[in-house]
Amino acid sequence: MKIHEYQAKEIFAKYGVPIPPGRVATTPDEVAQIAGEIGKPVVVKAQVHVGGRGKAGGIKLGKTPEEARAAAEQIIGMDIKGLKVEQVLVEAAADIKEEYYIGITTDRAARRNIVMVSAAGGIDIEEVAASTPEKIARLHLDPALGLQDFQIRQLAYDAKLPAAATKGIGPFLKALYKVYVDYDCSLAEINPLVLTGEGTLIAADAKINIDDNALFRHKDLAQYQEAQEEDPIEAEAHKRGLTYVRLEGDIGIIGNGAGLVMTTLDVVQREGGRPANFLDIGGGAKAEVVRTAIDTVLLDKNVKGIFFNIFGGITRGDEVAKGMLDAMSTMDIKVPIVVRLTGTRAAEGLKLLEGSALTPAATMQEGAQKIVGLVNNAGQAA
Ligand code: GDP
Ligand code: MN
Repeated sequence: MKIHEYQAKEIFAKYGVPIPPGRVATTPDEVAQIAGEIGKPVVVKAQVHVGGRGKAGGIKLGKTPEEARAAAEQIIGMDIKGLKVEQVLVEAAADIKEEYYIGITTDRAARRNIVMVSAAGGIDIEEVAASTPEKIARLHLDPALGLQDFQIRQLAYDAKLPAAATKGIGPFLKALYKVYVDYDCSLAEINPLVLTGEGTLIAADAKINIDDNALFRHKDLAQYQEAQEEDPIEAEAHKRGLTYVRLEGDIGIIGNGAGLVMTTLDVVQREGGRPANFLDIGGGAKAEVVRTAIDTVLLDKNVKGIFFNIFGGITRGDEVAKGMLDAMSTMDIKVPIVVRLTGTRAAEGLKLLEGSALTPAATMQEGAQKIVGLVNNAGQAA
C-alpha cells in the first residue's frame, strides 16, 4: 500500500524527524488560509501516489498567500501521470542549500534490507542509480543487529556527505529504520533530505510503501486505505473477482493458472507481441467466468486481439468453450480470438468451437504466433 507524502510525514514526525510545518488542503481558499497561518513563503505540493511530481509541475512555491492560492488553482485538478490531484500539502518552504537522499528497501537477491545514502538527492534516485551508481552508498542490514552507529558513519563517509550533514544524519537514519521495521515497509524514503542555509537537516519529502501482507498488523493505517488510487479496469476486475493486472500492450491474455498465464505473457512477447494484461481465471472455471473474463479484457480499448490459453486439469475444455460461444453470441466482439485448449475434455471443447469465428491453436507457441500475426496484420491494414 502506498500512502501520501503528508501521511508519511505524520508518521515520521511521530518518530522525531523534523518536517516543515504545514497541512493538507483541497481548495485554493484553504491553501491561502494555511499559507497565511504559516506566515512565510510556502510550497504547494500535489498529493498523488507517484514520484516526479516536481518535474510534472505539481510542486510550486508561493511567497504570499495570494501566490499560494494561484499555485493551488493550477495544481488542484491537474493530471499527473494519469492521476487527478484532489489534495495538496501546504508547508513552509525549505531554505534549500543541498539535497540528499536516504532510503531503505528490501533487497530480495541479498535477502536483507538495504540502506542507501546519496549526496545526489532531490532528483530521481532511479536515474542516479542507473547513470552514476557510485554516488549511492549502500549497506545491507542484519535483522538481528539493526542499524548500528558505525554503519551510519560508514554510509555518510561513503556518500561523501559534508561535515554538517554527517553530524546530523544519524537520527534521521535511525528514525527511518525504526519506521521501516515498525510499519512493515517495503520502502521508506526521504528525498530530498534538505540541508538548510542555517546548516540544519529537514525532511522535505517523505515516501512510505507498506507490505500489503502486513496490513492486518496496522489497523491504524486503515484510515489511509480508502484513498487508494487504482487503475479503473483493475478495480473493476477485482470487483468481479478476477485476478487481473493491466499491462501496456494490445494482446489480451486469458489463461487458467498464474504460472501458465505468466508463461503465455513471455511466449507472446517472444513472438513479437505486446500483452495487454495478465488474467488468471483459476482452476475449474465455469462458462460464466469465461464470459466475464472476455468482457473485462475488452474494457481496455487498446486490446486488438485475445489469446486464450487453457490447460485443462480440473478446468473442463467444454465448459470454457461454452463460455466463449456464449460471449461471442451475446457480446459485440470485434477483435480476433485465438484459443489453445488442451487437457480435460479438450476434444469436446474444440468440437463445440468448430465453425465459430475463433481461431484454434494446437500449442501455446502456435497460438502466440497466430494472435501476434492477426493483431499485427490488422494494424497494417488499418
Ligand atoms: P517529488 O518530485 O515528487 O519527489 O517531490 P519532492 O517533494 O521531492 O520535490 C521535488 C523538488 O522540488 C525538490 O527536490 C526540490 O528541489 C523542490 N522543492 C520541494 N520542496 C521545496 C521547498 O520547500 N523549497 C524549495 N525551494 N524547493 C522545494
Ligand atoms: Mn521526492
